[in-house]
Amino acid sequence: MVGGGVIGLSIAAELARAGNAVTVVADRSATDSVSAVAAAVWFPYRAGTSPAVPTWLARSLVRFAELAADRATGVDLREGMVVERRPGADRSWTAAVPEHREATTAELPPGALAGVRATVPVITVPTYLAWLHARCDRLGVRYVRRTVGSVDECAADADLVVVAAGLRSGELVDDDTLYPIRGQVVRLPNPGITEWVTDDDNPAGVTYVVSRRNDVVCGGVAEVENWDLTPDPDTEAAILRRTAALVPALAGLPVLSRDVGLRPGRDTVRLERVEGHAVPVLACYGHGGAGVTMSWGCAEAVADLARGS
Ligand SMILES: Cc1cc2nc3c(=O)[nH]c(=O)nc-3n(C[C@H](O)[C@H](O)[C@H](O)COP(=O)(O)OP(=O)(O)OC[C@H]3O[C@@H](n4cnc5c(N)ncnc54)[C@H](O)[C@@H]3O)c2cc1C
Repeated sequence: MVGGGVIGLSIAAELARAGNAVTVVADRSATDSVSAVAAAVWFPYRAGTSPAVPTWLARSLVRFAELAADRATGVDLREGMVVERRPGADRSWTAAVPEHREATTAELPPGALAGVRATVPVITVPTYLAWLHARCDRLGVRYVRRTVGSVDECAADADLVVVAAGLRSGELVDDDTLYPIRGQVVRLPNPGITEWVTDDDNPAGVTYVVSRRNDVVCGGVAEVENWDLTPDPDTEAAILRRTAALVPALAGLPVLSRDVGLRPGRDTVRLERVEGHAVPVLACYGHGGAGVTMSWGCAEAVADLARGS
C-alpha cells in the first residue's frame, strides 16, 4: 500500500480484515496529510463523476453510521443543512441518507432558493485518524516511512501494490490528470453548536461551517490549480465574515488554528487495475473534496478487486 492518508489507511484496514498481510508505505503520516485538514462532513463535495460514486457514498455512510455507535471513533451523526442557491441543484446524494427533508423558508439564509436538512456523519478528524490507525495496528498492519519513487521498486516485497497516494499518485502510475483544489480553513472554539451547514454557491464564496466535538471548522475556498500551502490572511478574514453571517454565534471568537490543504482533484476517482507493472497494481485516488466521505466505500471496492487479482 502506498499512501497513509484516510484512503490508504481505510484500504489497509479492509485488506488486513480480509486476512492479507499489509504494509503501508508513506512519507507522511495521516495527521500530516491532506486528510488531517478535512472538515469533515459526509458530503460528496467535488467527488467527481465516477458511476460508482453513489455506491461508495452509500456504503461509507452505512459504515460511518455503525462507527458512530462507538464514541471512541470520533464519528457522530449530526443534523445540518445544504443551502441551495441555483435551480436544479443536484440532490442525488440524498438517496443514501435515511434522514433528510426539505428545509423550511425560515431555516434558509437570505438569498437562498432552497435547502436540504439531513443527518449525516461528522468526523472529528484528529480522533478518527488516531482510531483508524489503532484499528490498523490491531489488524497487524505494518508501516514504513519512506518516499516511493516507482511502484516497481515495491515488486520484490509485495504480491499486490495499491496506490492511494492522493494528489501525488499520478507520479507513480503515469497519470497527469490530477490537479490540486486548494482549500483553506479556520478553526474556532465551539460555542455550543452541533449543526453543520454548507453553502457552496454563496455569491461571496464557498462557505461551510462544520461543528466538531471541540471546535468548529470554518471554510473555505476551492481554488483549482493553486499549489500555495500558506494560509492567506485576506482569505481567512473573508471566511470569518461569511461564516459569521451564516452562523452568528461564531462572530468574534478567537482563532484556534488555521490550515491549507490541496484536495486531490480529478474528474473521476481512479479505482481500477493498472497494467504494465512488474507486480499487480490497483489505483485508488482522486477523491477531491470527498475522500473521507467515500473512504469506506472505496476501501471495500479495492478489497473486492484485490480478491480477484
Ligand atoms: C479544506 C479541506 C476540507 C475538506 N473537507 C472534507 C470534508 O468535509 N469531507 C470529505 O470527505 N473530504 C474533505 N476534504 C477532502 C479530503 O481531505 C481528501 O479527499 C482526502 O484527505 C484524500 O485522502 P488521501 O488519502 O487520498 O490523500 P492524502 O491525505 O493526501 O494522503 C496521501 C498519502 O500518500 C503518501 N504519499 C504520496 N506520495 C507518496 C510517495 N511517492 N511515496 C510515499 N508516500 C506517498 C503521503 O505521504 C500520504 O500518506 C477536504 C479537504 C480540504 C483540503
